[in-house]
Amino acid sequence: MPLTPEQTAEIEAARSLPRPTLRAVSEGMEAHLYRAHPVLDHGFIRVIDYMGDDSAIVQAARVSYGAGTKHVQNDEGLIRYLMRHWHSTPFEMCEIKLHVKLPVFVARQWIRHRTANVNEYSARYSILDREFYIPDPDQLAAQSIVNNQGRGEVLQGEEAARVLDLLKSDANRAYDHYEAMLSQDGQQGLARELARMNLPANIYTQWYWKVDLHNLFHFLRLRADPHAQYEIRVYAEAIAACVKDWVPLAYAAFEDYRMGGVTLSSKAIAVVKRMLTGETVTQETSGMSKGEWREFEGIWG
Ligand SMILES: Cc1cc2nc3c(=O)[nH]c(=O)nc-3n(C[C@H](O)[C@H](O)[C@H](O)COP(=O)(O)OP(=O)(O)OC[C@H]3O[C@@H](n4cnc5c(N)ncnc54)[C@H](O)[C@@H]3O)c2cc1C
Repeated sequence: MPLTPEQTAEIEAARSLPRPTLRAVSEGMEAHLYRAHPVLDHGFIRVIDYMGDDSAIVQAARVSYGAGTKHVQNDEGLIRYLMRHWHSTPFEMCEIKLHVKLPVFVARQWIRHRTANVNEYSARYSILDREFYIPDPDQLAAQSIVNNQGRGEVLQGEEAARVLDLLKSDANRAYDHYEAMLSQDGQQGLARELARMNLPANIYTQWYWKVDLHNLFHFLRLRADPHAQYEIRVYAEAIAACVKDWVPLAYAAFEDYRMGGVTLSSKAIAVVKRMLTGETVTQETSGMSKGEWREFEGIWG
């Protein structure tokens, strides 16, 4: 249950009070505003505010191109041109503010994206809830044998049961000790800023995260990618679904050129040209390393 009944009531109350505005409104995003989209077992993302829409990108771009854009037939064409040519500043004219509830180990990966504004729940000031991320059995996987930074086969049977039991019992024991240290029942009670230090990295935290669309696309490119860890990827996918409704033209261009596109090195282009002439090229004759070759082959499926 990601939200308490009180929080749900607050969201419904906020949504029941629409106000007229002269600002650009994205109908697609209005449908998401304030609503929580569940992620993992206790987490969520919800859009708290946004600025701009597809037309804000076009409007900003036309300041720089002026009459020169007359040859661009429509907004979609201009947005696709901007995305294709890495003309990124018009995308910075749109902003989004999210409320995110996420495990601390996911937050550590997320916070590496420095081009955002963050305000996190204070565990110096408040007491954290007894909420821990426990993976679904189908996510409880063994270390990958091909990728040091990934997971492989799903754990089975007794091993899976033992791991789940360890995760749950360790988390609960740590939280019991957290409460025992905080308690002022017959003792002074340890400060919250100190008592939190024994809590595991799968405890949930919350923050407000504000970012412009250009940097959000960069985040999504890295974190909605199959190479990203599953636990951050599901957050990126939930955000991406909102962004698709917010700025459908920009999102379609992003999907096409960034998520769906690839960058080829000059060596890879030379190999493609040789293959097009009918030559059989192998890793040994390609000039690429084994890793590069594996990724190159992966592109073509
Ligand atoms: C699959 C994957 C595996 C990863 N593995 C590791 C790992 O093992 N260890 C690890 O430490 N990290 C790891 N990372 C994190 C990664 O190295 C980046 O820190 C993270 O993805 C944020 O990217 P960014 O710096 O481009 O984003 P942002 O911080 O949002 O920056 C966006 C862009 O702004 C510019 N920029 C921002 N700040 C600066 C600055 N101070 N100086 C210069 N340019 C700046 C850069 O062009 C940057 O690309 C991993 C990330 C991914 C996606």
